[in-house]
Amino acid sequence: MNEGDRRIRSVLVVGGGSAGWMSAAMLATMLKRDCTVTLVESDAIGIVGVGEATIPPIRLFNETLGISEADFIRETRGTFKLGIEFVDWGQVGTRYFHPFGPHGRNFDMVPLHQYWLKTREEPGAFPLEDLSMAWQIARAGRMARPVPDQRSLLSTFDYAYHFDASLYAAFLRRHAEARGVTRVEGKIDDVTLNGETGFVESVTLEGGQKLEADLFIDCSGLRALLIEGALQTGFEDWSHWLPCDRAVAMPCASAGAPTPYTRSTAREAGWQWRIPLQHRIGNGYVYSSQFLEDDKAASLLASRLDGEALGDPRFVRFRTGRRKQHWNRNVIAVGLSSGFLEPLESTSIHLIQANISKLIGLFPDRDFDPATIAEFNRIAHAETDRIRDFLILHYKLTQRQDHELWRYVSAMDVPDTLALKMDHFRRHGRLIAREMDLFAPPSWLAVHIGQHNYPEGLDPLIEHRGIDARDYLAKLRAAMAAEAAKLPSHEAYIAGLTGTAAAA
Ligand SMILES: Cc1cc2nc3c(=O)[nH]c(=O)nc-3n(C[C@H](O)[C@H](O)[C@H](O)COP(=O)(O)OP(=O)(O)OC[C@H]3O[C@@H](n4cnc5c(N)ncnc54)[C@H](O)[C@@H]3O)c2cc1C
Repeated sequence: MNEGDRRIRSVLVVGGGSAGWMSAAMLATMLKRDCTVTLVESDAIGIVGVGEATIPPIRLFNETLGISEADFIRETRGTFKLGIEFVDWGQVGTRYFHPFGPHGRNFDMVPLHQYWLKTREEPGAFPLEDLSMAWQIARAGRMARPVPDQRSLLSTFDYAYHFDASLYAAFLRRHAEARGVTRVEGKIDDVTLNGETGFVESVTLEGGQKLEADLFIDCSGLRALLIEGALQTGFEDWSHWLPCDRAVAMPCASAGAPTPYTRSTAREAGWQWRIPLQHRIGNGYVYSSQFLEDDKAASLLASRLDGEALGDPRFVRFRTGRRKQHWNRNVIAVGLSSGFLEPLESTSIHLIQANISKLIGLFPDRDFDPATIAEFNRIAHAETDRIRDFLILHYKLTQRQDHELWRYVSAMDVPDTLALKMDHFRRHGRLIAREMDLFAPPSWLAVHIGQHNYPEGLDPLIEHRGIDARDYLAKLRAAMAAEAAKLPSHEAYIAGLTGTAAAA
């Protein structure tokens, strides 16, 4: 390599959870020449292993790695996800569905939901979610791939996966090692910084082995060994908006066929997830330690499982917020080391993917151009802030007053960026999109309407149009239900894909 060649020659990925192996697999695919990729992980520490629900962009990530859906679903005991059912969030006894995909199909310049809002109290009115193809399929317990033909209603939904996070990390490990990634097992107990630049030079394992690299990817989870431990980057705390700071997880035996959706049920001091896999159901209670003790959370969770508990409760402590910089000097934080937003909308694995994509798009050389680093951090912050706002919306809109947590969140002030969006919706039912919004207007609409937050007025244009859409809406709903009824069951679909026999 000549003197002027400033290419990165070595990358060290610190950590072997989902973040570590997703990063290593992608870097090995992208950096084919003259760059080594090494991953170090500690078997004694292990991985957090609870990220089991995802959102649709994960499909692009797997496709980029050349992973077939059938292999992935088989190896991770995965199932399909068409959205999230929220139970008891607006009020106890209510439910709604946040679908992947829009509600119906616009027939006019005025968005369809405005017509739905206009008729929602008239005889024959029905829930907004009935206009969602994803919900119609989910409700029927069915599954199929969306079709490419835009004229078909079956093109109007999207999907993601549920999977066993430990199996996913193992699957990606095989994939990455086959593409040249070297794995080192051991516990890092020291990090050496360059005295002049403050850049990380090496990490040292217990036993003395030293690992050097040009670029370090910090995937060490909540420990944030390099980005915080060594570089002291700083953390922006959002727990005043998202007060849950604990989770207890407890899988249970399956109860019937897996549902093609996640369920989130609001509880006294947080909420409970239910994620169906092929071989078990993942469950957890995310709660605020201000309002509930650990033992009580575990016993409440154990009493609310659909099947026999499989194993002891596992507790995770976290702080909601993000690192002040995701990229600092020659260290990029990916995964839990970059911060954490509670898993209410299954966004953490997506944020891993987003940081990896940005790294590929802004890959440095050994000069580590500050403008490149600044751009990476600008985008990363915008992405995280927009997701934060969407999560806060779920809490802010609750009408529950039955426990302290719900009284607190319904009364709290929200970030200005969220207040602006809520104000537009309140006035005219408009859904304002912001730069780097991961969740598109249909997602925001699902939460507003699902939690009975109806606007004070409609889009003024709707009165100018003078269209009576009742017949159109009713026919659309019936056509969607009819399409859903023709699809195979979720279980049969998985069996067909993976070549296994469906349960009778
Ligand atoms: C309660 C909960 C529920 C979640 N649910 C979802 C969900 O449904 N969907 C979703 O997308 N995300 C979810 N997440 C987030 C998701 O689990 C994580 O984003 C994902 O697993 C990535 O974790 P990670 O790889 O960053 O960290 P980890 O899995 O914790 O991995 C850290 C790695 O660093 C290594 N390490 C740490 N210290 C050292 C050391 N000193 N020396 C050597 N190695 C070290 C460990 O051995 C391990 O390999 C959830 C998170 C929590 C806490």
